[in-house]
Amino acid sequence: MEMPFADFGCLVFSEREMADRLPRPVYQSWKKTVANESTLDRPTADAIAHAMKRWAMEKGVTHFTHWFQPMTGGTAEKHDSFIEPGPNGEPISRFSGKMLIKGEPDASSFPSGGLRATFEARGYTYWDVTSPVFIRDNILCIPTVFVSYTGEALDRKEPLIKSIGALSKAATRVVNIFGDKDVRSCNISVGLEQEYFLIDRTYFEKRLDLKLTGRTLFGAPAPKRQELDDHYFGSIPVRVSEFMKEVNQELWRLGIYAKTEHNEVAPCQFELAPIFTNGNIAADQNQITMDILRKTAQKHGLACLLHEKPFDGINGSGKHDNYSIITDDGQNLFAPGDKPAENIRFLVFMCAFIKAVDTYPVLVRMSASDAGNDHRLGANEAPPAIISIYLGSYIEDILYSLYQGHESQKGKNEIKDFSPVTTLSYIPHDNTDRNRTSPLAFTGNKFEFRMLGSSMSSSFANTVLNAIMAESLNEIADQLEGIKYLQDIREKAVDICRNIVHDHKRILFSGDGYSSEWVKEAERRGLPSVKSFIESVQVLNDPQVVRLFTSLDIYSEKELSANRTILEERYEKKMVIEVRTLLEMSRKDILPAMSAELNFYAKTLASAGDLTPKFVKERLSTLSGLIDATDKACAALEKGWQKAMKAPDTFSKGKNIYYTVAPLMLELRKLIDRYEMIASREFYHLPMYEDMLFSL
Ligand code: ADP
Ligand code: MG
Repeated sequence: MEMPFADFGCLVFSEREMADRLPRPVYQSWKKTVANESTLDRPTADAIAHAMKRWAMEKGVTHFTHWFQPMTGGTAEKHDSFIEPGPNGEPISRFSGKMLIKGEPDASSFPSGGLRATFEARGYTYWDVTSPVFIRDNILCIPTVFVSYTGEALDRKEPLIKSIGALSKAATRVVNIFGDKDVRSCNISVGLEQEYFLIDRTYFEKRLDLKLTGRTLFGAPAPKRQELDDHYFGSIPVRVSEFMKEVNQELWRLGIYAKTEHNEVAPCQFELAPIFTNGNIAADQNQITMDILRKTAQKHGLACLLHEKPFDGINGSGKHDNYSIITDDGQNLFAPGDKPAENIRFLVFMCAFIKAVDTYPVLVRMSASDAGNDHRLGANEAPPAIISIYLGSYIEDILYSLYQGHESQKGKNEIKDFSPVTTLSYIPHDNTDRNRTSPLAFTGNKFEFRMLGSSMSSSFANTVLNAIMAESLNEIADQLEGIKYLQDIREKAVDICRNIVHDHKRILFSGDGYSSEWVKEAERRGLPSVKSFIESVQVLNDPQVVRLFTSLDIYSEKELSANRTILEERYEKKMVIEVRTLLEMSRKDILPAMSAELNFYAKTLASAGDLTPKFVKERLSTLSGLIDATDKACAALEKGWQKAMKAPDTFSKGKNIYYTVAPLMLELRKLIDRYEMIASREFYHLPMYEDMLFSL
């Protein structure tokens, strides 16, 4: 019998594989490069490339690709074969160190936000030695970063790697100050819970909106929604479990620890969570996971929807980003000791996080958002667009006690309501309790960032968390460095924490984040509430944000402004595709269906004469009214859209789209939904919510 995990990681050129296959000095030289202690020289690269090629060809691989992540949110690859003509005309295989390290994909059509004028359109990919090489579909995939001819980042990976470096330095400083001198570096651990929908492929194929935009642009609610909560953690349908089995096997072969899978809240919604790994690899593995989900679904006659809000009226999908900081000797810096109150280093890291988030709430919000997530955030099922932190009463109590300068009252069962509001009741939680309504929840030894959209790469969100944490920790380290005795350091640290709680307690909130009271309360606290993604993008212009990224050498000013342009342009393009698709479907599917149905009743009327039932007459007038209204709504949308596009710059265009065009889309949608509620299946052929959501 074959053991289920026997081939775990067999498609990864793992560290063990390298140790086995490389001459010792080459292996050690590679290790040093990964640890950022030296750079690869040519002979070493050649030796690694050779071993890699041998390994891959033994597995039937014929091509290689520099796998990269342009700022489209997805991944890109261009395949090259190992094959070359030999000296006597016979085919030989070749893969050199140079081919491994550097590529020039001539990918001039990827978004660059003006970083690449066409005369310098070249972009280069460079091997990211910290993420393992893997095989997919007989192609050797080499994770790379993507940069312009002049060295600017054209992807989200390079900045992520730089941000991990900046955070590592800052966190290590603080750890060293508290006496742990052996720690030399830190990394982030990230676990990404991936939510997604599965529907029957035949329905997917029939919906142009799903195919082109990833979401349904209209659809009346099904008679059954998620009110019974019978899907959540329910038994997994047979088709889906077959699909999951294959997904798991594929992921395991690629060395990805797919761990849990279950039904989510909405019908047809599922979740897959891997075991956490370092932040850079987690980002890559999540990209691979999304790709495998999509392709495996197709094989099983299913469609995997990764959009944040494929269906209105039921829950959308997120990608919870579980985030912690780990030292090179394996200590989790967000893990409280046995007595957290005395574990001052832990409290310093908690306070650093509080300060970081409260200093840059809009940046944090923006890092997890895009056009799709606008439909999800604040929709009473996902975190609101207002950033706050939930610590759990245990930790919160400790911090407030520290702030007030007396011993923690916990245990004496005397939890004080420190919240400045009395309208909000304070519900005591214990340390392990979860607040599912908080965008950033402390869950025992990590923060769970629940805002991130299901289709998004985790790279930018973690780049932001790293950057703001690095700055916050550096400021704390500046105050502590130079103090000689540990006792004095601890006292000073308590002082620092006290000040942070004083200055930043407005960001702490343990109540119901979905409630309307919270929106008002947040406003009173002065917490920013940025409604749309497009508005949040402007934060990249903020001088404080520019200073943050440039001083830590994560982004240059030029790169930031290019990023802004790219995000704005992508928003505009995505929305325009939605508008066009909605118009197309209205004109080619909806209006003809309505008219055919009208015709049917008109004929009935003609033949039944005086005997025509009231129902038919009423239906005729309803349909006639709906047709006119729908036609008018299409014209209004078309006009509104054209007008919105006249704005002088991408930001104004985006804002117009959000505030004037999206409402017009909604108007049109309402009419279509009204028709769907009464449409006869004889004339209306698009799959409806009740078909799509209850078909597995
Ligand atoms: P829940 O659904 O209750 O939030 P899951 O078990 O589905 O929990 O997901 C938790 C995720 O957090 C997993 O990916 C897990 O590996 C990850 N995780 C656990 N501990 C840490 C940690 N210290 N740092 C980062 N991620 C972690
Ligand atoms: Mg979670």
